[in-house]
Amino acid sequence: MRYQSTRGNSPQQSFLEILLGGLAPDGGLYLPTEYPQVTTAQLDSWRGLPYADLAYEVLSLYCTDIPENDLRALLRKTYTAEVYCNGRPQDNAQDITPLHWLGEEQGTRIGLLSLSNGPTLAFKDMAMQFLGNLFEYALKQTGQKLNILGATSGDTGSAAEYAIRGKEGIKVFMLSPRGKMSAFQAAQMYSLQDPNIFNLAVDGVFDDCQDIVKAVSNDHAFKLKSEIGTVNSINWGRVVAQVVYYFQGYLLATKTSTEKVSFTVPSGNFGNICAGHIARMMGLPIAHLVAATNENDVLDEFFRTGVYRARKSAETLHTSSPSMDISKASNFERFVYDLLSQDGKATAEMFKQVDAVGGFDISKEAIFKDIGKYGFQSGRSSHQNRIETIQDIDQRYGVMIDTHTADGVKVARDHLQAGIPMIVLETALPIKFEETIELALGRPAECPAAFKDIKSKPQRVENIAADVMQVKAFITAHLT
Ligand SMILES: *Cc1c(COP(=O)(O)O)cnc(C)c1O
Repeated sequence: MRYQSTRGNSPQQSFLEILLGGLAPDGGLYLPTEYPQVTTAQLDSWRGLPYADLAYEVLSLYCTDIPENDLRALLRKTYTAEVYCNGRPQDNAQDITPLHWLGEEQGTRIGLLSLSNGPTLAFKDMAMQFLGNLFEYALKQTGQKLNILGATSGDTGSAAEYAIRGKEGIKVFMLSPRGKMSAFQAAQMYSLQDPNIFNLAVDGVFDDCQDIVKAVSNDHAFKLKSEIGTVNSINWGRVVAQVVYYFQGYLLATKTSTEKVSFTVPSGNFGNICAGHIARMMGLPIAHLVAATNENDVLDEFFRTGVYRARKSAETLHTSSPSMDISKASNFERFVYDLLSQDGKATAEMFKQVDAVGGFDISKEAIFKDIGKYGFQSGRSSHQNRIETIQDIDQRYGVMIDTHTADGVKVARDHLQAGIPMIVLETALPIKFEETIELALGRPAECPAAFKDIKSKPQRVENIAADVMQVKAFITAHLT
């Protein structure tokens, strides 16, 4: 399988070649030259496979430059019940992403696909754990070292750190905005004592952290010399690893592979739902992919109106589902490329417009009228909606959900279709956002046993100014 840039002006590369890079040289994102097709018979033959082996069936179509036995071993090492064991007592850890039906509403079943049972209790573990093992494998082959530099507002940073802690030849330098994450999120990251993990608490906001990462990445000499890589949400390895659980959710929800199901996805950077789009393009019988946003409704606005309008930093709201507080959806270009019939030139034009004037408007164009064939729908949820949905799901079904999942359930309920099961992706466990849960339910969030004393553990974190030079100096001083 070869990969090409969405802007059509970069050489094609293999899976391992694009694994450690970010954007393509022309500024685009990588996508496979074609989507492998999965037949009904193939789907049926995958029923009942352990998650790791299902992952092998899907990912071996994409990671064609990894020997089959190595890929299977990597996946079996990654997707174990021991690693994904933090779910609810009723969850079946063997399924890795267990499906938990809530009940019947408006003539159809609605359920949660638990993606947040991994080490950091959010769905980003699903891909990041695989990437950690894959990086270690790839580096061993070449004898190279890798230093991951990242910025986080919470979930990405901890997922990356837990995936790479203790791994040979890899270090993580993670910038986080000092005092701006939830106490639980900060404790998860800062309590890691592994010598290959460096937490840098920046005196600033998340955008300052991201700007520093961009500045360092744009200094190509420094990047090369310091063997710096990134694991941000546009990384193809992350997107493709997420495709697997759409298959798992589908297979757990159906008895035969001609039935249709819909998915609702709490969305920010369009990484998670982009994986759903790819699963659907591969032939998985998905009726609808419903993008659920919070008040930062860039994506909902686009799917409703055909107008894509990136927000300014000052317009980006801090909400109680903070992992969806985005100003633009960095993976959205991957879908636009497909919408434009994989025309790299046209995609480049569109995103040049985004850079120049902040967006584009295709509301009057034929491609927008035709957008239904991709199955996308969308909706938006507010703080009040989240609180009410958390209360309602607790009262009606005795299930506690987090704020992001609540956005998903709220929007899913506005898009139920009789006879087509609706699966809402559960993207985090409630304990990560316990302040809002307490507010909604008047009692503390459930906490998996392994995390009971996390906030009282000693923390290992360096305070640093929002200054590129100081961050570079810190990295240089800690390279060997
Ligand atoms: C990252 C994240 C999201 C948004 O996912 P995208 O891939 O950016 O759309 C939603 N919920 C939680 C809990 C997250 O951590």
